[in-house]
Parts: sequence; structure tokens; C-alpha cells
Amino acid sequence: MPEGDTIYRAARAMQRALGGKIVTGFETGLALLARVNDDAALAGRMVERVESRGKWLLIYFSGDLILVTHMLMSGSWHLYRPGERWQMGRSRMRVVIRTAEWEAVAFNVPIAEFHTARSLERSSQVPKLGPDILSAEFTVEGGVERLAAYGAEHPDAEIAVVLLNQRVLAGLGNVYKSEVAFAAGVNPFRAMRTITPGEMEKMVDFAQRYMRENVVDGAGDGIVTYSGNRRTTHAMDREERLWVYRRQGEECRRCGATVMMRKQGVQARSTYWCPECQP
Ligand SMILES: [Zn+2]
Repeated sequence: MPEGDTIYRAARAMQRALGGKIVTGFETGLALLARVNDDAALAGRMVERVESRGKWLLIYFSGDLILVTHMLMSGSWHLYRPGERWQMGRSRMRVVIRTAEWEAVAFNVPIAEFHTARSLERSSQVPKLGPDILSAEFTVEGGVERLAAYGAEHPDAEIAVVLLNQRVLAGLGNVYKSEVAFAAGVNPFRAMRTITPGEMEKMVDFAQRYMRENVVDGAGDGIVTYSGNRRTTHAMDREERLWVYRRQGEECRRCGATVMMRKQGVQARSTYWCPECQP
């Protein structure tokens, strides 16, 4: 699943390509979107901004229309120059937004809806998110406050489950959840009531740093894909870029103990940790 940093990267590339530009063409394979376009054409509207909210990508058009997409497992947004050959088959195309200079194509997006500012506010599907770890306004102190407030209300919640909760902090996915807990030396199964403010601060700080480091400027233009190489260990070798994620049974890079994995939470997401470094 794409994580917050890849969606953020996609949103930023889309903002650069489309932001402030007039839509010259709109195409969709989704009936509900087509109906809205018939009633209130997209062509002629300006793309006001593109932003990510956790794992959601939102495209704001002038005239109070917002296209909301979620990639889930398989979806992606690509940017192409007009006439450039698409990297995926046309049958997988769900949405095309054209401007004079770019074509933004959504492939396989399972969720794509139009909203107004009001309906978006009311939508129960698009969650009210916690502060986005990658936003310019995000601070470590603010993130710690969110964690602490949630912990006060849910003292028995396990920290790694909380790190994944987009209503607390928006942006962390399953990879960084394990990486951040490792970096802070916190056992991912500990209850919130046992987590100290210092540990919260470490985790939020690592979360922000890791996510920022992974928001590299690709070429700026070109294809936006979701195969981004996430790195947290600073090693250049692709195999050595993560501390514990998907390293079950292998040696901990810090202490040599065996990295463990266990399913966690009601969603049974895989959690990786080192029993020595994260007692
Ligand atoms: Zn270790």
C-alpha cells in the first residue's frame, strides 16, 4: 500500500504540473464522475491545488469541486506530456485531467469521488485526519500532544496501532510504523499508558525525519509511481535501506538479535521489531 510519503510526493508533483492551470480536457471511465462532468464540466476550471491528506489525494478545482481519490493497493496517478505513451493500458484508466502541458492519468483507483467543500467536510469516508506529518505546519511538539491526548483516552491501545491511526497523526503507513518504533527503541506492543513523553518525542521526530527524507525530488516531471524506495538506514544498498520491516528471521542491524514479526491489531497488520533493541 502506498504510504503517506508517496501520496505526498504524488500530490506535490501533481501540484507543480497542474496547479494554477486551466483544465482543457477531462475523461473518465467511472459513471458517477462522468455524470458530474456532464452537469458541471471540468474543462475550463482552474486546478487550484493538489494536496495529500494521509493516503488520500485531493484535487481542488475552481467552482467548489474537489476530486478525491484513494489508491488503496493498486491505484496510481501518472503524469505525462500530451501524446506521450502511457505506461499502463487504457482499460485501467479511470480519470484523465488534461491541461495545455500535462496529462494526469489515474489508473486503477478504486475510490474516486467528486465533493464540494461542504460534502467533503461531512464525508464519513474521507476521514478527519490528524495533522499531516509532512505539512509545513507540523511540529514535533504538536505531534507529541496528539499522541499524548489519544493515549490519555485510550491507555490500553498499543503504540504501533496508534501510529497507524490516521486520525491521530496522518501519513504513517505500515512500513514506517515498524521503522519508527525501532528507531525510538520502543516495543511496538506496549500500551500507550507506558509510553513516556520522551519516547513519544523520539517517535514523532523520527517519523517526520524519515518521511521528509523520502520525499525526494524525482525528476519533478515524469511518471509518479508508487514503487518509491523507502530508506531509513541511510545505506545505499536497496537491501539495507530498512531497519526491521520485512526482515523477520534476519539479524538486527544494530545488535544482531533475530528480528521478529507478529500480526497486530484488529486489522492484523504485520509488525516487525527487535526483541533486544525494543524490549
Ligand atoms: Zn536489535
